[in-house]
Amino acid sequence: ASSLAMIDILADFFPKISPEEAKISAYFLRGELAPAYEDLEIGLADKMVMRAIAKSENIGIEKIKPLFNKTGDLGLVIEKLYDSRNHKGANLNIEEVFEKLIEISKIGGEGSQEGKIIFLADLFLKTSGLEAKYIVRTILGTLRLGVGEMTFLQGLAKAFGAGKKDKETLEYAFNVLSDLGEIAYIVSKSGIKKILEIKPKVGAPIRVMLSNRVQELEEIKDHIPGMVSVEEKYDGERIQAHIKKTGEISLFSRQQENITHQYPDIIEGLKKSFIGKEAIIEGEVVAVAYDVNKSRRPKGVGTPTAASEERLLPFQILMSRRRKHNIEEYIKKIPVHYFLFDLLYLDGKNYLNQSLKDRRAALERFFRKIKPIDFGKYAITDDLSEIESYFADSIKRGAEGVMIKDYSGIYQAGSRGWLWIKFKKEYKKELADNFDLVVVGGLYGAGRRAKTYGSLLVAAYDPKQNKYYSFTKVGTGFTDENLAQSLKMFEKYKLKEKHKLVETGMKVDVWFEPKIVLEISGAEITISPIHTVAKDKIKKSLPADRQGGLALRFPKFLRWREDKSAEDATTVNEIYELYRKI
Ligand code: ATP
Repeated sequence: ASSLAMIDILADFFPKISPEEAKISAYFLRGELAPAYEDLEIGLADKMVMRAIAKSENIGIEKIKPLFNKTGDLGLVIEKLYDSRNHKGANLNIEEVFEKLIEISKIGGEGSQEGKIIFLADLFLKTSGLEAKYIVRTILGTLRLGVGEMTFLQGLAKAFGAGKKDKETLEYAFNVLSDLGEIAYIVSKSGIKKILEIKPKVGAPIRVMLSNRVQELEEIKDHIPGMVSVEEKYDGERIQAHIKKTGEISLFSRQQENITHQYPDIIEGLKKSFIGKEAIIEGEVVAVAYDVNKSRRPKGVGTPTAASEERLLPFQILMSRRRKHNIEEYIKKIPVHYFLFDLLYLDGKNYLNQSLKDRRAALERFFRKIKPIDFGKYAITDDLSEIESYFADSIKRGAEGVMIKDYSGIYQAGSRGWLWIKFKKEYKKELADNFDLVVVGGLYGAGRRAKTYGSLLVAAYDPKQNKYYSFTKVGTGFTDENLAQSLKMFEKYKLKEKHKLVETGMKVDVWFEPKIVLEISGAEITISPIHTVAKDKIKKSLPADRQGGLALRFPKFLRWREDKSAEDATTVNEIYELYRKI
């Protein structure tokens, strides 16, 4: 169904069910069992689900395999099988199904796979073919109803509210709590008014505030006339840290993945640094190296200098801390600093609507600089030439640029507004900014690359339509290692046909679910009959026989962006604006 049709279906559905059911439905509609940040998975692969199906029907797994090989969808397999055997089910309600699935997901330890299979087979016995189909797809993560977060909120607003303002209220709540189920529950229980009282919840990641960019520093004044905080833009990973009253600390990436286990050194540091009870803060973690100071003076002459000096290392180096094992070894191999720059919540008080000035003041009052905890460098000014010289100094120190923030601005959770502006050194070149695009298809290579993907079809995102529009096909810039990685990375996102949210005129060898983001550079934006970015917008300006979308020429792969999700990719609008400017 189209987004509009989906919104109507949701608006019709939600008022008919209880708040508890609304909560569960919110998760199920997205193919999940909990808010995405909890990363709750059933933990069963195709083969195990096949065994559960076989067990439920008391048949051998060899009866199921051929059916699966034919359709590639175990949901269809179980539906057909159950229908042919006239499976009636036990009329389970949605809460019962949900509880069973949660139970299965929590089975752990030795023999857990067997345990899960037994529980799952038991659940299947109580379902009809149709119900079993959706349960199987939920378990395997292949449900893909295509209900985007915004579509969901629009449906909810239509169900319980009246118009645009209510949708914005719900969006705000989602930006603060990142939990569609919780929001569906509150709204269906107490109405949209109650949502206005929502506060951050320690432990639930707040959707991060992002920045816009300017091409020239002079443009800053158009957006922020008053005082700004000019800050070094660190080339690391954004971390939102949640410190609970109990002392428990969780770290979330910009993608809201729980990355606590990667940084025991930061956890230890925060414990020593924080003097309040509970808080939510943000900063950038950066890999550092300690160089022995070469300019040490001869013995006995002058004042001794520090024995070692820190040097900040690029993002790629930090990424080797992305691992499950040997963390302790890597703490030593790749030490980090955590540069704090914001505070969102402190000891019962919501700071989101406070000015940056007040947030920073609280941050500096309640945290102490103790390795590896540090504060990001900044200067407060309203003078353009001072901003310029701060930028020049930052570049000299090796930073990629600066962040310029409205000193009286609030924290706009989940949005990319003009209260934060980034300015990087490459903006001066033509078409110098890079694109973060979502991989939607692959073409097999030739020659040396015959066994891997030779090139990838990549797309920009349109949040309004919740669709991905192809922009270019990239085949250069990959190292052999990149290519080897890509085979494995894409394996679990392979599809039988084009994903329904993808728009393109290109044919590929393999389609992928839009998940993996990569960064590329390019030299020129042109019109192509195959690609589809901003196709509708440029339609009128083109002759009838030359219709097409925007496409990037001479694309070159730079790096994977593991820190970005598909919905964070460069948007169709950003590309269109760039095209108009050049
Ligand atoms: P880019 O691709 O240029 O890194 P981006 O698209 O990832 O930018 P932006 O919103 O443009 O994201 O930039 C914000 C990011 O910059 C933050 O997510 C954070 O990781 C990083 N950053 C580094 N230093 C700072 C700082 N002082 N304040 C805020 N963010 C910072």
